[in-house]
Amino acid sequence: MRRPVIAGNWKLYKTTNEAVELVSRLIPLVATNKDVDIVVAPVFTALTSVKGAIAGSNIMLSAQNCYWEEEGAFTGEVSPKLLKDVGCSHVIIGHSERRQFFGETDVTINKKIKTSLYAGLTVIFCIGETLAERESGKTLDVLKTQVRNGLSGITKDQLANIVIAYEPVWAIGTGKTASDEQAQEAHAFIRSVVTGLYKKTAGNGIRILYGGSVKPENIKGLMNQPDVDGALVGGASLKAESFSAIANFGS
Ligand code: PEP
Repeated sequence: MRRPVIAGNWKLYKTTNEAVELVSRLIPLVATNKDVDIVVAPVFTALTSVKGAIAGSNIMLSAQNCYWEEEGAFTGEVSPKLLKDVGCSHVIIGHSERRQFFGETDVTINKKIKTSLYAGLTVIFCIGETLAERESGKTLDVLKTQVRNGLSGITKDQLANIVIAYEPVWAIGTGKTASDEQAQEAHAFIRSVVTGLYKKTAGNGIRILYGGSVKPENIKGLMNQPDVDGALVGGASLKAESFSAIANFGS
């Protein structure tokens, strides 16, 4: 049985005060939820304050990105070691916005995953096809390449600290969700690719989240799919009411 993960990606929203206020409202709304890993990913500058606010709660802290070196002359970058230092347990890597706007490639994503695992973080590794790729029938090829390249050199033991987030680019922030069936098809395929790389137990064990306009209204249908193990939530994670309703999908 795979334990679900519901993670909120706050993107470039919320000042430190607003982030603390949001998480403080969220804490009581999910306090009795013992069945789900609940994760929030504020901007870098709010991490320490949010860490303080979630102390003693069942909410975990993630960053939205990191660099692939531990330290050095890399002005403006933040390493996984530093994320661990401020209390992050998770880091999101390879989000499509980073691939699209910041030139991230499978190669740099793979390096970031390796350094993050080395630092002891759980990685939320994002993959997903664009609309053009889907419309030209390339979805499964794209997913296979992203999974293989992203996980290149990662051992079976390390895989235990990776969660894959399938986020069709055309569904992110657009209000268009993949249908339950489209999500299931992609997730089952991704699992089969992981199984091909690492054998059956690893494929069965890896958690695969869906991301792309997840809302309280569509989470149940998605979670009913056998290969959907949770969600990476953008817009709907910015309000305590909607994010808690998603996290509490089982009640
Ligand atoms: C995301 O940012 O990962 C995301 C899925 O955004 P949204 O839920 O707003 O589509």
